[in-house]
Amino acid sequence: MIFNTEQMKSSEINNILFMLPPFWDPLIPPQGIAHIKNYLKKYNYNVKTYDFNIYKNFRDIYTRYFNTLKKYVPLEKRGNFFNIGHDVLRNHMLINFINNQDDEYYIFLKDIIYKTFYVQLGIEILKEVDDIINSFYSIFEKELNKIFYQNKFQMVGVSVMRDNIAPSLFALRYIKKIDPAVITVMGGSIFSDQLLIGTPNLDYFLKNTPYLDKVFVGEGQILLHKFLSGELDNEKKLFTLDDINREALAYSDLNFPDMDDFDVKHNYMYLAMNASNSCPYKCSFCNVANFFGDYREKDPGMAAAQMMSLYQIYGIRIFFMNDSLLNNVADNLSTELQKNNTPLYWDGYMRVADNVCDQRNTIHWRKGGLYRARLGVESGSNRVLKLMGKKISIEQTKESLKSLANAGIKTTTYWVIGHPGETEEDFQLTLKLLEESKTYIYEAECNPFIFSYSGQSDSENWHNDRKILYTHVPQERIIIQDWTNNTYPLREETYERVNRFVQRCNDLEIPNPYSYFDIYNADNRWKLLHRNSVPSLVDIYDGNIDLLESRKVEIINKISKINIETNDFDF
Ligand code: SF4
Repeated sequence: MIFNTEQMKSSEINNILFMLPPFWDPLIPPQGIAHIKNYLKKYNYNVKTYDFNIYKNFRDIYTRYFNTLKKYVPLEKRGNFFNIGHDVLRNHMLINFINNQDDEYYIFLKDIIYKTFYVQLGIEILKEVDDIINSFYSIFEKELNKIFYQNKFQMVGVSVMRDNIAPSLFALRYIKKIDPAVITVMGGSIFSDQLLIGTPNLDYFLKNTPYLDKVFVGEGQILLHKFLSGELDNEKKLFTLDDINREALAYSDLNFPDMDDFDVKHNYMYLAMNASNSCPYKCSFCNVANFFGDYREKDPGMAAAQMMSLYQIYGIRIFFMNDSLLNNVADNLSTELQKNNTPLYWDGYMRVADNVCDQRNTIHWRKGGLYRARLGVESGSNRVLKLMGKKISIEQTKESLKSLANAGIKTTTYWVIGHPGETEEDFQLTLKLLEESKTYIYEAECNPFIFSYSGQSDSENWHNDRKILYTHVPQERIIIQDWTNNTYPLREETYERVNRFVQRCNDLEIPNPYSYFDIYNADNRWKLLHRNSVPSLVDIYDGNIDLLESRKVEIINKISKINIETNDFDF
């Protein structure tokens, strides 16, 4: 069935659908579309939101895909399997959605798998893996049909990150086919990443996605509202904050999520919040400052009150903080949260820094509910940290880990392997740091250095060193190209180091939990290691905790505050 073919004017739109297509870890309800829903509702739009990532069918397909790949990738080459495997899944889904499955198609798929796991798979295995993606699209189409025929939407939007680009495009192409009058729109963090403004990927993408009408880059609430009010130039396809004079939405009730469509208590472990936006630093490999603009902080009293209000609505007391960096807001947020009789927990990104080394601070944060610090450790080599522009030293890293762990706060450590210029000696120092700090590491998550075409703080310096990754796959067969660096260490060596990093973690019994069962085991290990340990995630979710436990923690082995000026490392 084809609906009417005349495209509607933006000012006539009232019924709107926003979706988060698979695959994205359903830890928290999708925040981007929940914030937009709340904002547009205030202007009387009917907005429906869907998170396809909570559908059991899709979780099953995801598991089947990785279990099948696992059968054919030897243990010593799997590395950080669910992390690096997403590159394979993402690109596989892109070529599957665009191409016929001819002989060339399987050459593309072979190249995609090889450039991550460095194994050559035969045609029968490639077909076996490919069948799983075929069944995904077939089920996804049926689900889209159900939603679309039950409701008459005039605009459909997708929130797109790196890993859900192919299903997002599939959804918009399908919807446009069955109802060409619908306006299709896209936003999300992919526009700070693979589809950054000024990249050949974005230019190609905009010209070759006729089923996508409008793209909104950056905070979407005001942009979308102006578009719907007919205030933006309808001839354009791409809108950025420049189209609204970089107007930022103030922190207020309007800047709050509406998650009523998500059955939050049953589908997610965490709620989400932010107490700041962007980051005041500029590490070489990071694009946060470029995408989010100037760093700004929310009033900590407002952040704490919003957290309490969300807890009262949805009944989950642990928050995944979406801040790029919590160091500057942790003190005040902890103070505000300690004023409540109902303890809340929060989990967020921090950097190794003087204030983390001081256990008086980490104990204060623990009493205020800091549950897990997601800490950018990056490397065990001071030389590489300097190349990265991290402005930290290994001694600070060790003290930060100790200080957090002694306060009982879980430490999820992030490591970048294969930064341009990282030598084997540097990598050995990373393995040494892992070993020396293993007791203070809750979890070790390593990432091979990812080279973006642009947008990273050091992109201009690496300008001459980039090359297309999947050399066998022309752009029209994949739409979005991945890039890699042409300098030492090359990608294959980086991935080989990733394999060795994971092996060393296994030997040292440092977890990297992906399933709830793994998290349960990792939490038990943490409790055995640290007297002040936070409760397990399962116990918090189930409400099996002493509500005063965080207020009872005490300083262990008081650690002196490290002064960055006294380190012998020269920044
Ligand atoms: S890596 Fe962390 S500290 Fe560095 S710029 Fe990015 S968000 Fe900021």
